[in-house]
Amino acid sequence: MTMMTAEQYAESLGKLNLVVYMFGERVEDVVGNPIIRPSMKAVAKTYELAHRPEYEDIMTVVSHISGKKINRFTHIHQGTGDLLKKSKMGRLLGRETGCCFQRCVGMDALNALSIVTFDIDAKYSTGYYKRFLKYLEYVQENDLTCDGAMTDPKGDRSLPPHKQPDPDHFLRVIEERKDGIVVRGAKAHQTGAVNSHEVIVMPTLSMRKEDEDYAVSFALPSDADGISYIMGRQSCDTRKLEGGNMDQGNLMFGGHEALVVFDDVFVPWDRVFMYKEYDFAGQLVEDFASYHRQSYACKVGVGDVLIGAAQTAAEYNGVARASHIKDKIIEMNHLNETLYCGCIACASEGRKEPSGTYCVNTLLANVHKQNVTRFPYEIARLAQDIAGGLMVTLPSEKDFRSPETGKWVEKYFKAHPDVSTENRMRILRLIENITLGTAAVGYLTESMHGAGSPQAQRIMISRSANLPEKQRAAKKLCGIEE
Ligand code: SF4
Ligand code: FE
Repeated sequence: MTMMTAEQYAESLGKLNLVVYMFGERVEDVVGNPIIRPSMKAVAKTYELAHRPEYEDIMTVVSHISGKKINRFTHIHQGTGDLLKKSKMGRLLGRETGCCFQRCVGMDALNALSIVTFDIDAKYSTGYYKRFLKYLEYVQENDLTCDGAMTDPKGDRSLPPHKQPDPDHFLRVIEERKDGIVVRGAKAHQTGAVNSHEVIVMPTLSMRKEDEDYAVSFALPSDADGISYIMGRQSCDTRKLEGGNMDQGNLMFGGHEALVVFDDVFVPWDRVFMYKEYDFAGQLVEDFASYHRQSYACKVGVGDVLIGAAQTAAEYNGVARASHIKDKIIEMNHLNETLYCGCIACASEGRKEPSGTYCVNTLLANVHKQNVTRFPYEIARLAQDIAGGLMVTLPSEKDFRSPETGKWVEKYFKAHPDVSTENRMRILRLIENITLGTAAVGYLTESMHGAGSPQAQRIMISRSANLPEKQRAAKKLCGIEE
């Protein structure tokens, strides 16, 4: 089966024996849990759309290893056309779900490993690339969702991994055996972790010889012995437990993050893709980060939803014709399409790596992500400006439905005569959800810190900006000869 349906995906997750904790208790039915389930449904959308003829070109592709039709989320980019479609796929899914649909991290990890395993082999005559291709075939054949796990807890930020007071603050190898390795540590902020079949671990920063026990990359089934998940809280998350269907804003979808703990977990050799090649840790981080910075095309899709919601709120409030409102909507579109330019540009300027994999243009991917750390905040500010204060002072759905208070809520929150109070409340709740609630994790804070915090991009921009060439051009034009 090379392409699962959304239903088959949900069923396949149900068969996993994941060790998940939330609110201090073990979650027995992970797929059915009301707080987790919307995030599962967002990933399921990546399966559903792949079966829709109108999205076939964006969502599916022919595998370069098996020649079979596969979901693009398991594909290794074979040209700039693939990279462009990846950006379009991100926008499409962001717009369809209004949240983080989580599956990009695994795709980005697979692509980064397809470059780096090849390069390690070229230097050290290891056999990682062949191993990786075998694993890739397994992922493609079974249409798996992978968690790309990079971020370690990192402990004292001023110290490298081997100098940490607690040596487990970076994930490391604690034992080498004949049949594999044993690892200990954790990965934090893991997007979509409990909706994944596999977890692909990578180092989180460049390393030196002393850190070689930390220079490790591997893949495991997400329910392997010794792996536990502790769910992250999101603002307004327990609204999903309240019943009703208005106060959540987005009734269908959401994202999630978790702390993933590896408590002395065994990894067989055929699933190890880097072991002690510390000089390649930095490259793996950079390639993964560049791919994932491109992936923030998703924010453009969520931006589409937010702009649509702001325009609707303006119409419902009866202010859509005011020139300053029109101008704010223009500004939101300008910012959102500027983001789109970045993820399209870094894709179309992509380069071929020695393994044959196409990687995005590093400078442009970093510029794009730097914009993502800013523009969604401004788009969200404008959406809140247009929505008005009612977005955060609105009574609950229960008050709206209550025989005692419902008539007052209905009466005093009525605006445009042709618009029901209920619809006005619904659109304001959606704006609240994206800018302050569960989806704000993805649209705002993740825009800031996901795929690396702003300073990480500034370092990459300064490294890739080729200043000497710019100086040469300037000096030539004004006649400086040195
Ligand atoms: Fe994908 Fe965006 Fe979620 Fe990252 S934040 S996993 S790029 S949807
Ligand atoms: Fe992310």
